[in-house]
Amino acid sequence: MNTALIGLSGLFGLAIGSFLNVVIYRVPFGLSVVSPPSACPNCHREIRPYDNIPVVSWLILRARCRGCHEPISFRYPLVEAGCASLFAGVAWHLGVSWLVPAYCALMAGLLALALIDFDHLKLPKNLVWIHLGGVGALLALSSGVYDNWKALWIAAICALGWASMFFVINFVSPRLLGFGDVRFSLVLGLALGYLGVDYAVLGFLLSNLIGLSITVILVAAKRLTVNQPVPYGVFLAIGTVVAFFTGATILAPFHLNDIFY
Ligand SMILES: [Zn+2]
Repeated sequence: MNTALIGLSGLFGLAIGSFLNVVIYRVPFGLSVVSPPSACPNCHREIRPYDNIPVVSWLILRARCRGCHEPISFRYPLVEAGCASLFAGVAWHLGVSWLVPAYCALMAGLLALALIDFDHLKLPKNLVWIHLGGVGALLALSSGVYDNWKALWIAAICALGWASMFFVINFVSPRLLGFGDVRFSLVLGLALGYLGVDYAVLGFLLSNLIGLSITVILVAAKRLTVNQPVPYGVFLAIGTVVAFFTGATILAPFHLNDIFY
């Protein structure tokens, strides 16, 4: 059952990854993600369904458009394969559980928002709210099925806690941390907090540690100036993914939740 779930989640992740490519490409420009159909950015030839199979089509076409032979970015299959791996990883990590859809939704949103932040240095408001709403609704569904509303309450408190800390940092120095990151942190706190307060603490520490170290390294290597904005959402997303997958191992010796509740 577990192997089937991992395989199915991976396949579903491939399809979602293909959609995320459209989201990453269009949402920052305020364009619709449903129409018009995907087309080659160079020759505007509409991409046929048989050329739109995740990863496979890119390989068959040898990374070139069928019409104009312009190269197709390596990032498209990478996003698809990345999303498939994340979805399969969630299924493997959680096993057969109603939490699988919630954390797959979390991963899909993290992937899209991290790449948009990387490209445009912004986290589109609407997309963050959709992400928060989707993950929140799926976590609530799981709480309903397992009658575990306590986890959802703790998750909500973690979301507000994380966002409050970021709100203060944003208030003190908006350049260090944009308001988009404050909004984004609600989803991170909610999703990690649902697994336990210790997960939320770990995610908070990891993402900021990753963010600050990389920023310091880039500044030291003169690849970045102190005043240059940094796509902090990327680090927040990475820290959250790492906390989700390694939390159980890292947190086991500490029994942090005994302190919290
Ligand atoms: Zn073309």
